[in-house]
Amino acid sequence: MGVKFSTLQTLDRNPQPAYHARLYQLTTRGDTPMYTFGRTSLTGSCLALLACLQGGCGSAEISVQFHPATATTTPPARVVFLAGPDSHLPGAHEHEAGTALLSAALRERQPSIETVNVYGGWPSDESIFEGADALVMYCDGGDSHLVIDHLQTFNRLLDRGIGVVALHYCVEVPRGSPAADAMLRAIGGYFETWWSVNPHWTAQFTRLPPHPVTRAIAPFSLEDEWYFNMRFVEGGVTPLLSAVAPPSTMERWNGPHSGNDAVRKLVADGVPQVLAWAFERSGGGRGFGYTGGHYHANWENDAARELVLNAIEWVAVKP
Ligand SMILES: [Zn+2]
Repeated sequence: MGVKFSTLQTLDRNPQPAYHARLYQLTTRGDTPMYTFGRTSLTGSCLALLACLQGGCGSAEISVQFHPATATTTPPARVVFLAGPDSHLPGAHEHEAGTALLSAALRERQPSIETVNVYGGWPSDESIFEGADALVMYCDGGDSHLVIDHLQTFNRLLDRGIGVVALHYCVEVPRGSPAADAMLRAIGGYFETWWSVNPHWTAQFTRLPPHPVTRAIAPFSLEDEWYFNMRFVEGGVTPLLSAVAPPSTMERWNGPHSGNDAVRKLVADGVPQVLAWAFERSGGGRGFGYTGGHYHANWENDAARELVLNAIEWVAVKP
């Protein structure tokens, strides 16, 4: 289907939950929205997920149960989601389906938050950014990162303190480029080639620091393409998800994404790696970076999904 990989752009203002047809369908049980993944239904039970993982999902169903807000009152906010075109085979880098899920989940638990989803990349009509409190970017990075051709607007949004969340590949911009400067300014860090790496591994998050973004998130572990050894601003960022990368992450040759001598030493020394972080700009505005998000099905992990939702609220809602 050529359409799937096209850059056809659509705009979705406060969209109803509508997911990637191949992976999702919406079902309702009583008053609780259930979001069902293609093959699978998790009714909030970790045991069910565990059984599924251990035994193989087969024809069983797994679905996501969205959680209500824990905060009682949240001021209104407007969040613009920018979803880049889907870029991998089904199941990975599903930027549009992931965006649809996250924005629906956000509104489910915080009805005071308005969401606008832009599919296909940077909006052709930039008036969509007027009054936006936050920008959530879930897109491909590197030379095709969507901010590269729109740095003037992006920097102007940063000037006025817009919150920025960057998910997965979207944290990578060309090394030392103006886009890298902008991402450092926006979220305090980025994936720098020949420094950062992108192996697939299971991260064990045994302890989460107290922070609004980690609110109500219990320790968890998750396999993903967790990038690490990110390039951070000199003043540093606030680590939120940290884990020790196993030696298996260094089995590849040195390369722009696969390895380098500096990161090999850090892994050999067992230095914890920062996989998600918060950043507060000195001039105002907040940022959040999350290096997971390769696998679409990982959004069914309650801890990972709720942490990212907490982060979107944290950058969007003015203190
Ligand atoms: Zn990936």
